[in-house]
Amino acid sequence: MESDKLLSVSEARERLLSGVEVLESETVNSESALGRVLAEDILAPHDIPPFASSSMDGYALQAADIAAASALSGVVLPVTADIPAGPGIPQVLSKGAAARIMTGAPLPVGADTVVPIEMTDDSGRRGDIHAPQNVSVLSPVERGDYVRLAGQDMRRGEQVLTGGDYLRPQEIGVLAAAGRRRVLVVRQPRVAILSTGDELVDVGATLGPGQVRDANSFMLASLVGRYGGLPTVLGIARDRNEDVEKMLDRALDSGTDWLLSSGGVSVGAFDCVKSVVERHGEVSFWRVNMRPGKPVAFGHYKGTPFLGVPGNPVSAMASFEVFARPALQKLCGRRNLDKPSVEVTVRDEFTSDGRESYLRVVVLREEEGYVAHSVGSQDSGILTSLVRANALLIVPAGETHVAAGRQLTAWMLDWVQD
Ligand code: AMP
Ligand code: MG
Repeated sequence: MESDKLLSVSEARERLLSGVEVLESETVNSESALGRVLAEDILAPHDIPPFASSSMDGYALQAADIAAASALSGVVLPVTADIPAGPGIPQVLSKGAAARIMTGAPLPVGADTVVPIEMTDDSGRRGDIHAPQNVSVLSPVERGDYVRLAGQDMRRGEQVLTGGDYLRPQEIGVLAAAGRRRVLVVRQPRVAILSTGDELVDVGATLGPGQVRDANSFMLASLVGRYGGLPTVLGIARDRNEDVEKMLDRALDSGTDWLLSSGGVSVGAFDCVKSVVERHGEVSFWRVNMRPGKPVAFGHYKGTPFLGVPGNPVSAMASFEVFARPALQKLCGRRNLDKPSVEVTVRDEFTSDGRESYLRVVVLREEEGYVAHSVGSQDSGILTSLVRANALLIVPAGETHVAAGRQLTAWMLDWVQD
């Protein structure tokens, strides 16, 4: 059977991503669009800044009038206007005069230059409410200095953002400057999360013998949220086909783009998740040459994409980072699906079993560059080892021994991906 083939991590990821398409778009408020992907081009509706203004607190004047200025003999000009930042039509300045001007205030008509207050005899002390009658300029400046021209940031009609752009705080700023209160972005994928296992109890439950709390639901929901999805926690399904089916059906009824389960995908007698998906859809792969997380099932359940990660919390998170993260990001319209990574020098030696391994490490910036340190146990049941880690060190398939000093790639778990 095709789905029984042991796939390489990259083959499996390609197979999964090849069927993933960007979702349709929706309109949201610009202030809530952080981390979303733009679904329209943005043109500047007018010049930005809309008018010529001063970039410093100082004096607006004509550069030609102060060409002879020096620290020893300042050029004295009468101050005929006082221009704060604020609304109003630009004032007019005659030749041979200066206007006191504040940062962001409109340059008066007739002025071509601003001299910062520090280059004058005006002390500029706070509390000098009134402009002086005269000002002595102590240094010449180039014509146009300290003037922000209209449209110097964005020209009217210029395309300033492009559909497909990822919206960071600076893009949100551009949207606001361009007067966009609402903006078209790619919709967020809805992901339903199911935990499976007879031994699992809800977080609030008192533990009985043989029971463990469901850590994966909350952890996977947090990961879904971190990578742009809208998680719904379905709860715990028992290790019975009917129970798993019932809960997956409930998720489909409420409308979900993706189904994500943990546990029940190995070869144990009660691992029913894979067979449920096979019975009502197809499993594209379920064995990947990866550690941790060899049993990871991908397919479709009643037409909806389904990813089943192993139950061990560390395996669940590693499989999520490898498979679910890029899939979610592709659904969200992200162009860059790469996990932020660095080249590291391995400080402690590691052993592996020849599968492509994602080992928990702490990566620190040291004198020789980034260095990866062990966090101790690589047992996939030790969730606190992930708490100590900040990176996953990738050991290529086929390697069983990583010597100290070796250069490898590490995925930085918490670095934000632009
Ligand atoms: P499984 O993949 O179902 O064979 O589970 C592997 C191991 O992970 C078992 O020890 C389970 O008890 C544990 N496990 C499974 N699901 C969860 C969960 N949601 N939270 C914490 N541990 C889990
Ligand atoms: Mg189980």
